[in-house]
Amino acid sequence: MVHALPLPPSLWAATARPAPETPPLDASRQADVAIVGAGYSGLAAALQLAQAGISVVVLEAGEPGWGASGRNGGQVIPGLKHDPDELVAMFGTEAGEHLVRVAGGAPAVVFDLIARHRIECEARRCGWIQPAFAAADVAATTRRAEQWQRRGAAITVLDRDSVRRLTGSPVYHGGWIDRRAGSVQPLSYARGLARAAQKAGALVCGGSRVTALTRDGARWKLTTGHGATVAAERVLLATNGYTDALWPRLRQTVIAANSFQVATRRLPDKVLRTVLPQGHVASDTRKLLLYYRLHQGRLIMGGRGPFREPAGPRDYRHLETVIGILFPQLKGTRCEFYWSGRVALTRDHVPHMHQPAPGVSAFLGYQGRGVAMATTLGILVAKNLISPADNPLPLPITDIRPIPLHALHRIYATALLQMYRVKDYVRR
Ligand SMILES: Cc1cc2nc3c(=O)[nH]c(=O)nc-3n(C[C@H](O)[C@H](O)[C@H](O)COP(=O)(O)OP(=O)(O)OC[C@H]3O[C@@H](n4cnc5c(N)ncnc54)[C@H](O)[C@@H]3O)c2cc1C
Repeated sequence: MVHALPLPPSLWAATARPAPETPPLDASRQADVAIVGAGYSGLAAALQLAQAGISVVVLEAGEPGWGASGRNGGQVIPGLKHDPDELVAMFGTEAGEHLVRVAGGAPAVVFDLIARHRIECEARRCGWIQPAFAAADVAATTRRAEQWQRRGAAITVLDRDSVRRLTGSPVYHGGWIDRRAGSVQPLSYARGLARAAQKAGALVCGGSRVTALTRDGARWKLTTGHGATVAAERVLLATNGYTDALWPRLRQTVIAANSFQVATRRLPDKVLRTVLPQGHVASDTRKLLLYYRLHQGRLIMGGRGPFREPAGPRDYRHLETVIGILFPQLKGTRCEFYWSGRVALTRDHVPHMHQPAPGVSAFLGYQGRGVAMATTLGILVAKNLISPADNPLPLPITDIRPIPLHALHRIYATALLQMYRVKDYVRR
């Protein structure tokens, strides 16, 4: 009996392009590569491999985009959490600059892919603004912008008035704009990737949770919850914030934190002209950052909430309140959509790549910046698998190292959230 996970309600689920047919794995199959997880990581890898004539089966517990890829803010942002110079300090000049180039070029990879495969996902290269929440953050945002400018990126530092004009919010002190960035309808993008992978020859199976991964002679055997199996030479684990116990200790290498979003009712045209009037996407410099954008005349506001799964609209009230603080002209505006999803946070705030056994690779930990980066890593992992010498990976392969006291992460993550809340309050 197959139990596919239903797609949770969200603005994206309500407005996405139709889902491709992805019936559960129906029989035992063989493939060159089996991929667990049909988010951007798994689907981009599947597309790349299938285009190279490699047989691929993607196994997904829900449907393509069921995880973070179908629920995120749809902000296609370059870079990682660390600034370029920090990455160079962490990884050395050559490897660090390589990683900076990959992360900086990640939005271009997404927009090229969308254009090449004619993915209908309302893609716009609109630019991303990072407004400085506290006066003390202006120096950091200016430094960040200058580091990218030195590397030739299309970046502009913004003064207080420009940020006010471009966001429509009076609360910020300055910031910068990155024109490499843009937006997509995230679930439509995931579905379009799945369709492109299918067209290239990949078999994408929804409702197919992999419950066991075992060695079977020279191959790996992936067993699904309903008993059908795939035998494959190579396995890619692309499960990010939804990583379960399939591979020992992998889940304990990340903190899977919930990120929450609300979407207002359609705003009247007069009000709409005063909020992000040029259609930029934005996320600010708070410790507990707020990210926001427009979609079809609604404002979407995202941020952290309680660490546990949300129990109902009450758990989103802080985001409704914040809308009225950032945009006084929207105070009291009703929200009509509430949803959440899991981001994967690593201890060093960079994605991790593992090869825990011959033929098995895992890549995860995008820190809430995976629209561009998960797509890019999926492609690069696939290219590396096809021809390793020509396609070096942008991050080192590391051992699986569980975060200490991971079993207690709910307690310390909740304490950390409180501390960040206080810090943001004080900094303000
Ligand atoms: C609310 C929210 C807002 C965000 N906003 C942004 C943003 O604006 N910009 C940005 O760049 N990033 C954002 N992110 C992060 C971004 O969405 C993720 O980094 C990216 O989608 C990760 O893609 P993925 O394919 O690695 O993982 P996912 O999309 O999470 O996919 C993993 C999949 O693995 C499947 N799976 C897990 N275990 C198994 C198993 N045993 N068998 C079969 N299937 C399995 C799950 O069902 C899931 O579908 C946000 C994330 C969230 C949750």
